[in-house]
Amino acid sequence: MQLSKNFSLREMTKSQTATRKGIPNKPTGTHQSNLVLLCQHILQPIREHFKKPVRITSGYRSAELCVAIGSSVNSQHAKGQAADFEITGISNQVLAEYINENLNYDQLILEFWNKSDPNSGWVHCSFNNNVENRKQFLRAYRNNEGKVKYDVYNAEDYVTESDIIGGAKAK
Ligand SMILES: [Zn+2]
Repeated sequence: MQLSKNFSLREMTKSQTATRKGIPNKPTGTHQSNLVLLCQHILQPIREHFKKPVRITSGYRSAELCVAIGSSVNSQHAKGQAADFEITGISNQVLAEYINENLNYDQLILEFWNKSDPNSGWVHCSFNNNVENRKQFLRAYRNNEGKVKYDVYNAEDYVTESDIIGGAKAK
């Protein structure tokens, strides 16, 4: 079943963990409607702008699947409002900045991206039809102690971040 021109329900619900563990990952009617909105407002415009396939690495997660993978049951993934994705050959930073500048999203996270590898990490983006979208743009990274941190996105942070990851200190 297609949710929009280029996105199917199958790719939005596919999960290796669900398959392996036999966990059902079937959205309710409301969650499926949310997935349609996410495709229409976020994923399909991205597909049309970059003219390349958008690879969904994680879309819908049923509550049972959230528990199995250690994701919060309150995650927007569990409501059909969020997806993780990337486009082969496009830097995830370029992708996230495009979304921020051109689309009406709720929350956008550039996840674990580092400048030395444009394909590193992934982009998380959500759309919420029920409230005013927050347009909250964050970056997720690991600090020096290996803890996951979320900061408001600032492109300049990556100058320092990539220097730390690359082992060479910034001047
Ligand atoms: Zn996500």
